[in-house]
Amino acid sequence: MSRRTSRPRGPAAPRITSASPCPCGLPTTYGECCGRFHSGSAAAPTCEALMRSRYAAFVVRDAAYLLRTWHPETRPPGVDFDPSMRWVRLEILDTTEGSAFHSAGTVTFRAHYTDDGRPDSLHEKSRFARHEGAWVYTTAVFVD
Ligand SMILES: [Zn+2]
Repeated sequence: MSRRTSRPRGPAAPRITSASPCPCGLPTTYGECCGRFHSGSAAAPTCEALMRSRYAAFVVRDAAYLLRTWHPETRPPGVDFDPSMRWVRLEILDTTEGSAFHSAGTVTFRAHYTDDGRPDSLHEKSRFARHEGAWVYTTAVFVD
């Protein structure tokens, strides 16, 4: 997911604590799930886990995490968050490879959001690669 805008920063991110349900949708807390990856205390073991944690990083507006899990060859100079967008739910539709035994993989997902209150979604197939041992986002295979 590489959505960027040049609009200025708006209201603060929704307040999510380590005891909150994880925004990625898995039935566990943020602290036990994507929060471990955002804090750097653990690394996402699979492409799907990385995709979930990057989605959750959009929810909590953790630009530093998005940048450090972006392949250096495709990484943008910065990430801005559109204040009118609220990420609602992530649906993982398909994954290929991307396990501990692979060096690449893809994740196809639909990320639901509202834009100024209007429901919409982003459908994307993302490509991931292993870089210096850790999974990173490289490019979108398609976005619609
Ligand atoms: Zn999570």
